[in-house]
Amino acid sequence: METKAVAEVVQSGHWAGGERVASLEESLAGLFSARGAVAIGSGVGALRLALMGLGVRAGTPVVVPGYSCVALANAVLALGARPVPVDCAVGEVNPNPSEIVAKAQQVEAFLAVVVHTFGQPVDLAPLKNAGLIVVEDCSHGMPWNQDGTPRPLEGDAAVLSFYATKLIGGGEGGAVVTNDTDVLESVLDLRDYTDKAAMGVRLNDKMNDLEAALAQCQLSRLPSLVEARAERAARYRKRLSEMVPSKAGTSLPPEYPGRIWYRYTVRLPSFDLDRVMAQMLALGVQTARPVSLWVDRADCPEAHRTESEILSLPLYPTLGVVEQDTVVSALRQILS
Ligand SMILES: *Cc1c(COP(=O)(O)O)cnc(C)c1O
Repeated sequence: METKAVAEVVQSGHWAGGERVASLEESLAGLFSARGAVAIGSGVGALRLALMGLGVRAGTPVVVPGYSCVALANAVLALGARPVPVDCAVGEVNPNPSEIVAKAQQVEAFLAVVVHTFGQPVDLAPLKNAGLIVVEDCSHGMPWNQDGTPRPLEGDAAVLSFYATKLIGGGEGGAVVTNDTDVLESVLDLRDYTDKAAMGVRLNDKMNDLEAALAQCQLSRLPSLVEARAERAARYRKRLSEMVPSKAGTSLPPEYPGRIWYRYTVRLPSFDLDRVMAQMLALGVQTARPVSLWVDRADCPEAHRTESEILSLPLYPTLGVVEQDTVVSALRQILS
């Protein structure tokens, strides 16, 4: 499907600024039941332009999760604004919504960026009730209904990354999705510099049609990709709960309703993660520390603890049963 879609774009001669980008934008707006979407060249670009479109300027404090991709800090810093991290809740990968609100009040921030980390949804209601403007980073996933559809956009904007390994892969790329026509217009305007004044604000944040065609393929299969991930996560749970006792604090990821299984992570508080990763690799299994931290330990001790404890196991829609058994056996061998 992907090969054919890319070949068609190549043959069409419209490699950029063509109808694939426009149709991806339409599909994304549909996915979130939102007014519109603007395709962007990267996730970090989407975040930067969404923040700018929502009024973040030099010096503006922006509340962000402490256990998160360094892209978040970079998008904020690129605007001369100030990232203010909130620590994870104890034993969780996301902050408590009430902590996000408290931090925003403390630093007088009007806006918070929220990440549904590893596909695990954050409840936005307390943030909206407190009057915060919310940008939802849905690069790992968006809150998902039982019926196999995403729930409509709740934040003031959603941003996505279409980097190759994300939930929706396009090689590179990103998007801003919103119901706010002013934000749509300003993100669209900020996306490129052509025929506009030289101000150093508008760079080149466009996505091309080859990337859009790839992202569209994955988007059109999103419910089945999400389902395939959930099946594999359920299999991990079943096999791992048989073999990994809650020995030494080892725990499997929480099964919150509405979560997407972007990553399957185990917590190994009494093991040296680098050593486990090397041992897994020697048994033919590539694992990862999913986040490399940018926050100080003093500001976010829980994020640092999480970073030192969480191991991400292979999880993708085409992961086979035999491969999954290899992962489970390798982990059993190392942890026992
Ligand atoms: C990958 C990622 C980004 C950055 O996206 P790029 O397309 O790599 O710039 C931002 N936020 C989250 C949560 C991500 O996982």
